[in-house]
Amino acid sequence: MYTGTLVNHKTVTSKIYKTVDVIPPEEQYRHENFMPAIIDKETFEQAQVLLESRLRSGVRAKFGNTIHRYCGMIKCAECGANFIAKKRTVTGKSWVEYTCNSNHRYGNEYCTAHTIREEQLDEIIHTELAMLCQEILDSSQKYDEIVREWNKKKPKYDKMIKDYTEKIANLKVQIEQVIIERINDREHAKVYNSMIEKREVEIAELMQKIEDCRKFDELSKKRRDELMSTAELLDEVLFEPYISDANLRLLVRKINVHENEDGSLDVNLEFNGDFKDSSTVCFEIDE
Ligand SMILES: [Zn+2]
Repeated sequence: MYTGTLVNHKTVTSKIYKTVDVIPPEEQYRHENFMPAIIDKETFEQAQVLLESRLRSGVRAKFGNTIHRYCGMIKCAECGANFIAKKRTVTGKSWVEYTCNSNHRYGNEYCTAHTIREEQLDEIIHTELAMLCQEILDSSQKYDEIVREWNKKKPKYDKMIKDYTEKIANLKVQIEQVIIERINDREHAKVYNSMIEKREVEIAELMQKIEDCRKFDELSKKRRDELMSTAELLDEVLFEPYISDANLRLLVRKINVHENEDGSLDVNLEFNGDFKDSSTVCFEIDE
């Protein structure tokens, strides 16, 4: 209903047997554009992703309470606990900081505080995403070059495909001849069989070569398009001075914080989807 779609036939109730059967989604009746949509499909799907991630990370807040920006996303690298948010106010200045929940609940003997401020995390993530965007643009240029090179060589490859196809046809004719010879000379069937086998292997190899020639072009174009759409998304997100909570959760899956002996923190980011697997930043906390 949020997106204007009416879905019927979700359950079937039997008055005789007093049962309710749930109908699988593919058998339900969907009426697209049945009513005016409240939100567009993209927003709806993003909301589903966010709701799922909230379930997965175990975010809990009382109804009506604010869910902090990084709630459920930060994990202690030492004890594995989630970080909890605290609002601090010192001499009129307020900020939000996150600390290891073990330290918060059981004290210093269990785990160190790992305290990190929200604005520090914001800065790290902004810098990392900007670098990531640049890396993606660089590699999409690489794919651009591959496609350009390919286009230059295309006539040559088209000729190769034609040659391979002719060779295959030729081999098939040979196989037919060998089969006839085998019929006339049953005593030496084994020899003919191995001749056929050899040609069949050759045909399979040639067909693979043709397939590779055709696929190459397609794959490099596809990879480039994927990279470009990721870069566009990042560009859009980074254009705003402040990354929205929703975009942050769409981009960043997990943040691991490790506290070194000297009190400095290592922050390790895990990105969602097609982004780089992870990256680590090391910085000192200024008390
Ligand atoms: Zn901890």
